[in-house]
Parts: sequence; structure tokens; C-alpha cells
Amino acid sequence: MINLILLGLPGAGKGTASEQIVDKYHLAHISTGDMFREAMANKTPVGLEAKSYIDKGDLVPDEVTAKLVEERLGQDDVKNGFILDGFPRTTNQAELLDEITTRLNKQLTNVIAIDVKEETLIDRLSARFMCKNCGATYNKFSKKPKVEGTCDRCGGHEFYQREDDKPEVVKNRLEVNEKMNAPLKEYYDKKGLLATVNGEQAPEKVFADIDAILSKD
Ligand SMILES: [Zn+2]
Repeated sequence: MINLILLGLPGAGKGTASEQIVDKYHLAHISTGDMFREAMANKTPVGLEAKSYIDKGDLVPDEVTAKLVEERLGQDDVKNGFILDGFPRTTNQAELLDEITTRLNKQLTNVIAIDVKEETLIDRLSARFMCKNCGATYNKFSKKPKVEGTCDRCGGHEFYQREDDKPEVVKNRLEVNEKMNAPLKEYYDKKGLLATVNGEQAPEKVFADIDAILSKD
């Protein structure tokens, strides 16, 4: 039985790793983002409660998110184990999760942090750029123009970055996230649940390291 949390900053590769883990271990992939969308669409009591905050532009309180997580973890498909995505983000949420997993008797078995240096994350997250003339999107790692400095689509030579993709904006976002991520790692480290993998490696290698940790149990 694997009950897992993956930790990592944006750009660390959690999404890719989650998919590979789910494929191999047949875990229920529990994403709080998806759960909120679903609960609101189905107008469940918790969904409506969450919506009342979102409509006002407020953050959904941890207790409401926790109720949703508890409902979800109680469902049938979770009996082979789960991977939690997007929760907990803070130590307060981690404490709520402890109460939930105790009540349901589904204790966490692993917390895996994918560690990547800030410079690498900034590089990855600010890789996107666009053609000024036609808006075609490029990526300096995965989708470069065929001829350097020339847009494939329109032949334009001027490019720009969206505000959100600029390195200084990305750096800021990473720092905000790291402020929450660091205490969470410490929280789970104290419980003896935390393992760390090197996310600077290629995705196959990152997964191989995760796989080695998970198949030990
Ligand atoms: Zn163009």
C-alpha cells in the first residue's frame, strides 16, 4: 500500500512523475484542483461552500479543502493507495491531513520531494517566448524556431515574453512557493517520511529514483 505526497516547486516535474507513478502503481490520483471543479459542478454541499468563498475572491479555508479531501479519500478507488496533488501546501494543512488519515486509517507511507535548484527552475519556467508579429509560441528547450531568430510561421524577427514568463516574475513566484515548501519538508522529515530525489536529472531518471524508493516498502 502506497499513500504518497509529492513535494516540489513549480517546474520541478511533479506532473510528469505523478503520471508515471499512477501508471505503475495504480494509485488514485487525488488533485484538489480537479476535486474543487467537480464538487462545484455537481453542487455538492462542500462544493457550494467552496464556491461561496471563490465567488467573493477569497481563499477557500483549509477546513473546507480538508472536508473535500476527506470525502475523496473515503471513496472506493482509494483502497489501493493514493497520490495527493495540491494538498497539503502548508503545515496547517499537513496537520489537518494527519487528522483525516488517522480517522480513515489511511496513514501516509511516503513523502517524496523533487529537488531542483532555483536557477534551473527559473530557466525551465521562463523558457517560453512568442513572436511579436503573429503570436506563435516557442520554447528555448523544446520548441525553438527552425532558423534561429526567425519565426517559423511568419518569418518575423522580433520576439517577446509574457509577463508571467519573465525570469524576474518567475523568481518571485518560486520564492513565494519555497516559503511554504521548506516548512512542509521539515514537517515530514521530522516524521521520518521524507525522501528526496534529484530533479535536475532527466525525467526517466527522476522516475527511476522515485520507483526505487516506492518499491522498497
Ligand atoms: Zn511569427
